[in-house]
Amino acid sequence: MTINEIKELKQLLSSPKNLVIVPHRNPDGDAIGSSLGLLHFLEQEKHKVTVVAPNDYPDFLKWMPQSESILKYDIQNRQSKKAIDNADFIFLLDFNALHRTGSDMQSYLEKYQGDFIMIDHHQQPDAIARFTYSDTSICSTCQMIYHFIEKMDLISTISKEIASCLYAGIMTDTGSFRFASTTSTTHRIIADLIDKGAENAKIHNNIYDTNSIGRLHLLGVALNNLVVIPEFNAAYISMTRKELDAHNFQKGDTEGVVNYALSVEGIVLAAIFIEDPDQGIIKISFRSKGAFSVNKFARNHFDGGGHDNASGGRTELTIQQTVEKFVDLLPQYKDDLLGSYEN
Ligand code: 5GP
Ligand code: MN
Repeated sequence: MTINEIKELKQLLSSPKNLVIVPHRNPDGDAIGSSLGLLHFLEQEKHKVTVVAPNDYPDFLKWMPQSESILKYDIQNRQSKKAIDNADFIFLLDFNALHRTGSDMQSYLEKYQGDFIMIDHHQQPDAIARFTYSDTSICSTCQMIYHFIEKMDLISTISKEIASCLYAGIMTDTGSFRFASTTSTTHRIIADLIDKGAENAKIHNNIYDTNSIGRLHLLGVALNNLVVIPEFNAAYISMTRKELDAHNFQKGDTEGVVNYALSVEGIVLAAIFIEDPDQGIIKISFRSKGAFSVNKFARNHFDGGGHDNASGGRTELTIQQTVEKFVDLLPQYKDDLLGSYEN
C-alpha cells in the first residue's frame, strides 16, 4: 500500500461503516486470529463489523474473544449473504484469490458491488481489491494486521483482545516462532502484544494442549503411515477416510501432522494426503525446507499454491492414485531435492 492509499483508507474509515471480514476456507489460526483481531480493532473505531468465514474451524481456536460471533457461510447462508450485501467494504484476509473461499462463496463474492481490501502474505495476489496490502516476506497475516494498525497510527489502541488474537495467528503460522519467516521484528511485535495483554502461556496451552484422545490416536495412525523416500529426500503420510472415521475425526485434527514427515532427518519435501470427508477430494498439504518451492510444485501439479515452504493442493483422484502421482513426479525434481538440503 502506498502512502496515498493509506491516507485514502484512513479517510474512508474515518466515519462509521458496515464492514465484513472474510478469511479463507478451512480457516487456520492465522486466518481466524487476523479476522478477529481486525474485528476488535474496527469495532473500537466505531464500525459495525461481521466476520463471515466460508466454513467452520477447529475447536482449539474457539477460545478467541468474539469467536462465537463468526458467521459460517455454508451453514448460516442467509445471514452471511445479508451481511455481504450490506457491506460498504469487505476485507479479505490471509488469502490471495476468491476461489480460496470455496466455489459457493466465491460466486457470491464475485457479484459483490462494493470494494475489497486484501491483506495477505501469499504469493501472486489476484488484482481484485481496491486496496491490496500484500507482503510475502511477512510470516503471518496477523503480523500484517499489526502493521496495518501501525499504518493507521493507532498502535496505542491495541487492546488485550486484539493482542491475544494476533499473538495466536503469529504463533501458529510461524510454528511457534521457529520457521525462517520469524524475524526480529516478529519477536518485537510479540513482545509488544504480551505487554498489551496477550497471555502467552495460556494461548499456547489453549491451542496446543487441548488434544482429544481421538486426535492423538489419529496422530499415531498418521505416524504409522509415514513413508520415507531417502533417494529423493522426500516423505509422505496418507490418511484414508476410514482411518479418519475410526478416530472420530474433527476439523483441525490433522493440522500440523505433515510437519512430522518434514522432521525426519534429511527430508526436504514432505506431503500429507487426506481423503476429505466433506468434499470427496484428496486434500494435500506440502512442506519443504530450503530452496525447494512447494508453492510452484502445488501450482504446477496439484491445483494449489501457497508459500515457498508451505503450500496445499487437491486432486479428484483416489488416494492411491494421488500418492502414485506424487511419487512419480519425484525423479524429475531429483537435482532440486538433493541440492536443497541444508543443515
Ligand atoms: P495448509 O497445508 O496448512 O492447509 O496450507 C499451507 C499453505 O498453503 C497455507 O498458506 C494455505 O493458505 C495454502 N494453501 C493450502 N491449500 C491450498 C490450495 O488448495 N490452494 C492454494 N492456492 N493455496 C493453498
Ligand atoms: Mn497465514
